[in-house]
Amino acid sequence: MPARKEEYHHAIQEGVEFHFLQNPVEILGNGEGWVTGLTVQQMQLGEPDASGRRRPLPIAGQTSNVPADVVVVAIGNDPNPLIPAALPGLQVNKHGGIITDEDTMETSVPGVFAGGDIVLGAATVILAMGQGRKAAHAIHAWLTRTTETS
Ligand SMILES: Cc1cc2nc3c(=O)[nH]c(=O)nc-3n(C[C@H](O)[C@H](O)[C@H](O)COP(=O)(O)OP(=O)(O)OC[C@H]3O[C@@H](n4cnc5c(N)ncnc54)[C@H](O)[C@@H]3O)c2cc1C
Repeated sequence: MPARKEEYHHAIQEGVEFHFLQNPVEILGNGEGWVTGLTVQQMQLGEPDASGRRRPLPIAGQTSNVPADVVVVAIGNDPNPLIPAALPGLQVNKHGGIITDEDTMETSVPGVFAGGDIVLGAATVILAMGQGRKAAHAIHAWLTRTTETS
């Protein structure tokens, strides 16, 4: 679990129930627009991959339903694909993170800068702030250059 031990401990203290090795595959509804539950697929840990991590694999035919009034999707830190989809020419890596020049944080679209989790993947506030400062200097230089030449 990608969390600190104390975060896990606090979550349990606050009443969170963990259902390990169960992958939600479908949100169930009552046909009138209301959620009634989730279908979950039972998983098992497979052989370690090249990184040593044992990837979860579905156990064929083993699903079950979990009743629910509300379903909140709060999984992972994947970048929203909306921005690259709306900005032609914006280069992203295989995880959907925006590719930037590491010195200036400028993207493949001239005059567009990015930093933080959207560039680094799930990282930290300190790194995001550092990239923000770097980008701020570069944006200032870019605007100064652009103003001088126009
Ligand atoms: C549960 C959890 C615990 C964490 N704990 C820590 C910790 O203890 N210490 C630590 O250093 N880091 C922690 N982090 C990581 C930290 O939160 C991030 O690294 C940091 O917030 C990244 O900053 P950011 O500015 O890049 O992105 P964000 O903080 O995610 O900010 C991006 C902003 O852009 C907005 N946005 C998104 N799409 C659009 C759009 N299309 N138009 C306009 N606005 C948009 C979002 O609403 C958001 O406000 C944690 C993260 C999580 C999820």
